[in-house]
Amino acid sequence: MITIILLLFLTSILFLYLKRKKTEITNYVYMNEKSKKYHLKGCPYAKNLNSIPLETAIKDGYLPCQICNPK
Ligand SMILES: [Zn+2]
Repeated sequence: MITIILLLFLTSILFLYLKRKKTEITNYVYMNEKSKKYHLKGCPYAKNLNSIPLETAIKDGYLPCQICNPK
């Protein structure tokens, strides 16, 4: 019984860790200086672009790409 509780506890910690890690990845976007838009890593328009934190992109007046739709 104790083993099951311990297992559930460890699973929830792992889940929270993975969730946090995922959020950290999405916080970085790829900015296009010409179109003034920022993209996600997998976007076809994000090639050869510099990655910057999402907060910086918004602060500098960049708009989210309508194709990859970064949040
Ligand atoms: Zn895009």
